[in-house]
Amino acid sequence: MKYVSITLSIACLLASTCDAGAAFVVSSPQPSTQTTSSFLGKKDSALLTPTTSQISKTSLFMVRKGVEKGLELKKKQEVLKKLNEGYVPSKAQRFNKWEELLDPEYTPQVTDKIAIVGAGPAGLHMAFKLNELGFQHVTVLEKDVRIAGKSFTEYIYEKEVPQEFGTCYTIPYKYQELRRIAAATGNVFFEEIPVPERHVYADYTDKEPITQTEWLISSKKKKFPFRLLPDFASEIAVAVDMLRFIRKHDSLFAKPINDIISATNMDLKAWLIKNGFDDLIPVISLANTVQGYGYIDHVPALYGLWWNAPAEIEGFLATKLRMVKQPASILRNGFVQYWEWIYNSGRINVKEGFEISKMERSDDRVVITTKDGHKYDYDFCVITCNLKDALQFLDARPEEKEIFDGLQDRSNLITTLFSCQHSTDPVAISSWTTSLDPQKQARLMTVRNSAKIFFPEDVGTRDRDFLISYQYVEESRPNTTEYRQELEATLLNDLKAAGFQDIEIHEQKVWPYFQRWTQEGLNKGLPVKLMRRQGGLRTWFAGASTLFESVHDCMEYNLALTSTIDKQRSENGRFMRSVATAVTPQETSATESVNEEKIRVEKR
Ligand SMILES: Cc1cc2nc3c(=O)[nH]c(=O)nc-3n(C[C@H](O)[C@H](O)[C@H](O)COP(=O)(O)OP(=O)(O)OC[C@H]3O[C@@H](n4cnc5c(N)ncnc54)[C@H](O)[C@@H]3O)c2cc1C
Repeated sequence: MKYVSITLSIACLLASTCDAGAAFVVSSPQPSTQTTSSFLGKKDSALLTPTTSQISKTSLFMVRKGVEKGLELKKKQEVLKKLNEGYVPSKAQRFNKWEELLDPEYTPQVTDKIAIVGAGPAGLHMAFKLNELGFQHVTVLEKDVRIAGKSFTEYIYEKEVPQEFGTCYTIPYKYQELRRIAAATGNVFFEEIPVPERHVYADYTDKEPITQTEWLISSKKKKFPFRLLPDFASEIAVAVDMLRFIRKHDSLFAKPINDIISATNMDLKAWLIKNGFDDLIPVISLANTVQGYGYIDHVPALYGLWWNAPAEIEGFLATKLRMVKQPASILRNGFVQYWEWIYNSGRINVKEGFEISKMERSDDRVVITTKDGHKYDYDFCVITCNLKDALQFLDARPEEKEIFDGLQDRSNLITTLFSCQHSTDPVAISSWTTSLDPQKQARLMTVRNSAKIFFPEDVGTRDRDFLISYQYVEESRPNTTEYRQELEATLLNDLKAAGFQDIEIHEQKVWPYFQRWTQEGLNKGLPVKLMRRQGGLRTWFAGASTLFESVHDCMEYNLALTSTIDKQRSENGRFMRSVATAVTPQETSATESVNEEKIRVEKR
């Protein structure tokens, strides 16, 4: 009779999933935690892995019936919809702990003359935010002749199709600040187009792609007993793993920073195995590596978990369970247009081609000397270029030197625009899972045909397709012609093997990606030390190397820094109000005594 109890228990487990979702309150501050905690008791998860001998043919039939009865697709979608609607933005889950570390020696004042080094997303956003806060004397100093750093879009060959060589995607539960500014500036060109689910090939010679969802399910199905169950039972099993992961993530990132660092003192793969998330290794490996964030076998778990946070996992969940919402979007008019809109808004001031040779800071000013010998005086500076590179011009103090020397940028993310004979394959984005192996450095990871995202109906009318490919190299190599030729040769081989025909390579970008602390540096608490130094020597450090390489994270880090201005203002406001309340009672009592006098006179 054991199989009957297994059947019933699985059915109950799935039914309780629905109930938990139905009871879920959208406005709850921690919905994902509440939802997951209600249906993943130890007893239930043990039931998901019975031994072979426990399952007979009849019991399988009953399990199948129980599962089908326990969860109709529609109900399953309702559950996930509620979960998605109630999701708390990631800032609450991750950045609050970093904000708590800020204890600035100096907070910039509205009349200060401020220099921002670097006109990438971090510098441009910081300038815009300071303008919103009323700062009038802010200048962005950019060494290049163009703005936007790693946001690089080209509109060549097919002018109506933006080709993203750098920053590309936004994610539904993140990028709130990006959207807020688009709305605040009336940016009519800001439009997020959902990207279709990527297809996955096992190897380059593999001609049968499967959707990412099918790939996930098939990885799970390989494990007994899911192989024998209907597809949606495997989907649910993956969803259960993901929800358990979200719960674990939420509780980890609610801890003090030092506890987070010590709990993640290992590579991402080791952390996943240690915490029982072996089955999520394929999906997390894909999410991490194809974004250029490194092989999960090598990347420190802190960075891996920073990116693979509930917001991303929720996106996977949503698509996986056939929700309408897509896990990512692409900007219709190109990411670079977003920054140009801000640049042209008249609210920020940028000096291009500005080459700094020296930056000297003291407790009351910052002096910047350019390569052609000009000196500029500022009251405050924000350094947003990569911090290790900043050592070339910065008068770094010993602790700053220790912090920045602990960073490494040995990897490259390579994007290449190529064209090929038009294919009738409707897939817009494809990835090859073979490239997730650290032994396969520089091999073709992903291709994106953006025209198929923007014009899914009329791609058949084009003679040639224009695509962007992605390769990743972890080892340190100087960016020489020889290196670039090697990258191109590897790419061509893989593209040919993958069936692309008549290939022409147009342009290649080798990006340093991304400067981050080693595990040793993290263990020494270097990012924490950096946060504690913010504001000292009239300096803020911002940009991708301070915490994480994404536009969302750069913006959130900026917001953490500028929150100190708000905090100081509200403290001053409290002070002013307390002065005001100290005055008001005297005035009131004076008025009252006048009134009392008046009453007395009238009575007389
Ligand atoms: C291929 C690729 C794909 C990506 N995809 C995404 C994505 O889908 N979504 C996402 O959110 N992010 C993505 N990113 C990451 C995102 O582009 C970066 O995180 C972001 O650009 C970082 O902004 P930043 O301002 O910190 O640095 P950068 O963009 O690197 O800008 C730094 C700026 O500082 C300037 N500078 C450097 N040194 C000096 C100096 N000494 N003096 C003056 N100026 C200096 C540089 O010229 C540059 O303009 C991607 C990046 C790449 C390369």
